[in-house]
Amino acid sequence: MTNPDVTKSLQLWKEYGQFVLMAMPYDDNVIVAANGCTVVDADGNEFLDLTSGQFCAVLGHNHAKLVERLREQGEKVLHTSSNQISLTVMETAAKLAAVAPGDLKKSLFLSTGSEANECALRIAKTVTGKSGVVGLSQGYYGITLATRNAGIGFGKGPAASPAVPDTFRLLTPYCLRCPVGATYPDCDFLCLKTSEAILQTQVEEVAAFIVEPILSGGGMVVPPAGYLQRLSELARKYDALLIADEAQTGFGRTGKWFGIEQHGVTPDIITICKNAGGGFPVSGVMTTETVTKQLGARGFYHLSSHQADPLGAAALGAVVDTIREENLVEQAAQKGQYFKDRLLELKAKWPVIADVRGMGLMLGVEFVKDPSTLEPADDMGRTLRRLCFRKGVQLNYTILSQVLRITPPLTITKAQIDYAVTVLDGAIADALSGTHNVEEMAPHNPYTRTLLKRSWRKTYAHYIEKLWHTSPQRVIQALGRKMGRD
Ligand code: PMP
Repeated sequence: MTNPDVTKSLQLWKEYGQFVLMAMPYDDNVIVAANGCTVVDADGNEFLDLTSGQFCAVLGHNHAKLVERLREQGEKVLHTSSNQISLTVMETAAKLAAVAPGDLKKSLFLSTGSEANECALRIAKTVTGKSGVVGLSQGYYGITLATRNAGIGFGKGPAASPAVPDTFRLLTPYCLRCPVGATYPDCDFLCLKTSEAILQTQVEEVAAFIVEPILSGGGMVVPPAGYLQRLSELARKYDALLIADEAQTGFGRTGKWFGIEQHGVTPDIITICKNAGGGFPVSGVMTTETVTKQLGARGFYHLSSHQADPLGAAALGAVVDTIREENLVEQAAQKGQYFKDRLLELKAKWPVIADVRGMGLMLGVEFVKDPSTLEPADDMGRTLRRLCFRKGVQLNYTILSQVLRITPPLTITKAQIDYAVTVLDGAIADALSGTHNVEEMAPHNPYTRTLLKRSWRKTYAHYIEKLWHTSPQRVIQALGRKMGRD
């Protein structure tokens, strides 16, 4: 099996690569078109997109209604001053209120998820008069310092510094690998109790608890039934606000309008982004009358250049309308169950699949080296992504690189799901046969290659460091062998 022909894409890299700031290792394929569940590169290769772009294209790429609304809005009013509000923003806020859970009927529109979470934290701090922020150890809330410090963050080193004070991370309720060695449901949420005991010694006062209804980047971890209710009680105990980060779980993805509804909990704030704009950059904060009154009393003020932008609001309005008109919430539930059942068939076939989890069309597949020890197959995500890509299926993996993420547009068809499962099945067989060449499958453009070399070096250094801490003797022996000595 060979990589797709990327001759034209590589020519484009040659011409333009010198102008691109390589913030991450990009694929060779330069994308020139996208439609529905398909993206197309410069060489005409087509990929079935199981990631909805960067988890955003909930309606499918370039949905006609979304594109049309953006065009119409662009012709009317593209942008306003921060002290003016457009009719489109008002109408979209009303549309959102109609589908919001509980009393979360008031919203503010922003641009990115990190920005929405920063704003939610500012709101919580203003309302409570406190500064502590509590997230989950495998949560992901954004790339800014405050959001990153509350979760897994991204990388270490100077760009991730300094650590933000008064920030604490609870142990993640990752039942397959329980952080406190307990078993659900007998555990009675021991991970949360343990975390709270430590929290008391670390953070004096808490303004907000922030949580994703399904922890996507951190391993597609679904908090077990009852966990978020306990977390909500904890937030009340600390007189803090509960923020649900619905970046990925919102807008029908899990089979309900908002993922938090799957857990029977109503938070004080919901933050939205990604799916909210269907691929257009818009985010937002939704909250209650009670919270907004308190903010008013305390003179809360929030301002950014693209706050309440008409174009973003138009996209969000089109997403809400289309989800309703095309019954995409129900479709996500039904197709998600079908996809999950098909993946469970693979689990029955391949003992290296330890878990298939998720809700609606937000699914995770976890791979192990050995089912009896559950040792993570930490190269599997990367390898399967590449092997599936060769066969025209695009998927993603999490920070736990043994966990694949499957989050296709809600408009995916049954035939596309079947095709994806067949490709994944073949890719698992190829991965286990060990005949693939990881180096050959990686991108070939020189800019990505340089980045990858650096990250491989970092990975090797990390393994050697880990090994050194367990057995310096083995490291010395391995290095000796490498240098020709025994
Ligand atoms: N929250 C969650 C759950 C996310 O997945 C992300 C993005 N991956 C963010 C927040 C941050 O959004 P953005 O990248 O738009 O800042």
